[in-house]
Amino acid sequence: MKIAVVGTGYVGLVTGTCFAEVGIDVTCIDIDQKKIDNLKQGILPIYEPGLEEIVSRNVDAGRLHFSTNLGEAIQECDVAFIAVGTPPGEDGSADLKYVLAVARSIGENMTDYCVVVTKSTVPVGTAAKVRREIEAALERRDADIEFDVASNPEFLKEGAAIDDFLKPDRIVVGVSSERAEDVMSKLYKPFLLNGHPIIFMDIPSAEMTKYAANSMLATKISFMNDIANLCEIMGADVNMVRRGIGSDARIGHRFIYPGIGYGGSCFPKDVKALIRTASENGYDMQVLKAVESVNEAQKSVLFDKVSKHFGGELKGKKMAIWGLSFKPKTDDMREAPSLVIIEKLLNAGCSVSAYDPVAIQEAKHSLGDTITYAKDPFEALIDADALLVVTEWPEFRAPNFGVVGKLMKEKAIFDGRNIYDAKELAELGYTYHCIGIKTAH
Ligand code: NAD
Repeated sequence: MKIAVVGTGYVGLVTGTCFAEVGIDVTCIDIDQKKIDNLKQGILPIYEPGLEEIVSRNVDAGRLHFSTNLGEAIQECDVAFIAVGTPPGEDGSADLKYVLAVARSIGENMTDYCVVVTKSTVPVGTAAKVRREIEAALERRDADIEFDVASNPEFLKEGAAIDDFLKPDRIVVGVSSERAEDVMSKLYKPFLLNGHPIIFMDIPSAEMTKYAANSMLATKISFMNDIANLCEIMGADVNMVRRGIGSDARIGHRFIYPGIGYGGSCFPKDVKALIRTASENGYDMQVLKAVESVNEAQKSVLFDKVSKHFGGELKGKKMAIWGLSFKPKTDDMREAPSLVIIEKLLNAGCSVSAYDPVAIQEAKHSLGDTITYAKDPFEALIDADALLVVTEWPEFRAPNFGVVGKLMKEKAIFDGRNIYDAKELAELGYTYHCIGIKTAH
């Protein structure tokens, strides 16, 4: 089989590479010439653990190609994936202009039957719009070529994307013809050999499944943050509560960690888009509206603790930040809570020195030279009045607190991810604040 994957971001590049890894001939397309030139030289546009090695292996094997020429790639492929961005428009709805532009180009260039699959996260009804866009382009060329559309939402997690793709919990595919189902079954067969299920359904249900999944996960996070804030007021320990409820099999231990709010390119925009889809169709998503507002408030919780600790006198204080990306093992800075926290610190007159193992380059796009960037975690601490742990990178979990304390002006740690032990830090003479546990005043 031959496939084309249009869009070589986090999803497209991982998708294309993993299909190549199981032996399929893949062309990854992007409109960004520089991205494609770099990829041809083995330079990846994103950080994703393990990806560089698997890209280079498949390029060397002649199965993975990069191009800006969609027209050429589409002419030879059995399946074309659309994996371009669907950023939030001003009203919160998913902006489909990139998806529909790709659909148009596909219609303008296809020469044979092909299944056009939306892998981007798109609202219910988008596959129908993609179909109309392709039909219109075919009509303009007076071409009579059969095609199918399908929806195959992606559930990979940045930071674990390769494993998620190669060993998926499930593959969801929405189709409207047996022919498309056969093609998609054949394409995904190599991933199913170890019992990973493929779930076929109608296209609107597949489109909705992705939003429902992300909204459910965002709900778990906001619910737990709400509980954490109440624990703190009431003198309960959210870590204990988390273990207590997680052991109920109906609840489970995953995704119930309190923190400083969800970020990233998916949850914020997908929650917004689902609220918008509902309201456009006369329905009010009350739970999701609360999820969103709890999340907005949660991004300020760490700053509020810092401000309270210093009695509101933050002008001239130096703050060290550990972690910039929205979560560990990625350089993705989209909607990262660190951006909100840093903005608040800067507005309050603080200086900020930050360290992140991989996201500094990306962070510079939004933060520029408003903060300083340290070359290691310890450099960020020099003369700092406080340390804020914003992203739980593994290397922050067990630092040498003796060294940490010596470098800092004041031994104050504000832990937005609950990775330290309050008792241990108190014994070492630190003031320690975390989320959902009353630790210091
Ligand atoms: P991204 O911004 O990293 O990548 C999108 C790519 O598409 C860019 O390289 C851009 O240059 C390219 N592009 C835009 N218009 C194009 C066109 N007309 N032709 C060719 N290339 C074009 O986006 P992403 O994070 O990979 O997300 C893509 C989609 O997948 C979104 O809908 C997102 O919601 C969804 N998704 C993302 C994740 C994730 O973890 N990032 C997970 C699941 C689903």
